[in-house]
Amino acid sequence: MAALPADAAKRVFGKIEAPSAGPPRSIGKYDRGCISGAVPLSADGPNWQVMRPARNRAWGNPVLIDTIERLAASAAQATGWPGLLIGDLGQPRGGPMITGHASHQIGLDVDIWVIPMPDRRLSVTERDNLPARSVVARGGNGVDLAIWDPSYRKLYETVARLPELARMFVNPAIKRELCHEAGADRDWLRKVRPWWGHDDHFHMRLTCPPGQTSCENQDPPPPGDGCGKELDYWFTPEGRHPKPSPPAPPLLVSQLPPECAAVATAPSAP
Ligand SMILES: [Zn+2]
Repeated sequence: MAALPADAAKRVFGKIEAPSAGPPRSIGKYDRGCISGAVPLSADGPNWQVMRPARNRAWGNPVLIDTIERLAASAAQATGWPGLLIGDLGQPRGGPMITGHASHQIGLDVDIWVIPMPDRRLSVTERDNLPARSVVARGGNGVDLAIWDPSYRKLYETVARLPELARMFVNPAIKRELCHEAGADRDWLRKVRPWWGHDDHFHMRLTCPPGQTSCENQDPPPPGDGCGKELDYWFTPEGRHPKPSPPAPPLLVSQLPPECAAVATAPSAP
């Protein structure tokens, strides 16, 4: 399939079923890019299970795969959970998606559910259908105290302390709770960023791997723990109900880095 510059990039990248051959390279920005040489996260590991296999979105930069595997082990240890349920990573060659996610385009983003992995292997049908579960109370002011226990703070803190982490996105009510529970050592809160949704999963975003010069990092989060005024905004009427902006027209292949048109048409990995 030839990718034309005027094609909607989500239709081109959303149809590709296999990664391109060659060394792994994250290209462009988290919300405007692609990846060559992506590798899959195994559906099962000692401390994780991949959800929604029908979506074929368990692909990423090897650095992301490796980080998820190590996180699954360290999070299991920190929380006492059997492991983690892993949601979407990216498509086989990254890029925009037909449904969901503005980012997740360069193989460095993953959504991880905030429900302990069950003590058994889920069937494929269960993985494609089991609903996620929110840990935020109705009304959105705080966490759901019927679910939340000390293991949750340990989970979020374990992720926030990963050296490879660029930032993680959580519901504002979760950030508020973490701000409340953290003691004097608060540096780890800096990368825990409030965002709408993210009540039944968190989004983990890694920095560009060293040497991948086509990969564009974001500016780091502002200094500080982000627990004061910046967090209060999210509980104001404007913060809770942002003015809906008109839907952006779909990104075209020509709006991605030029290398991505080549990635879209490159031969598949053997
Ligand atoms: Zn996400």
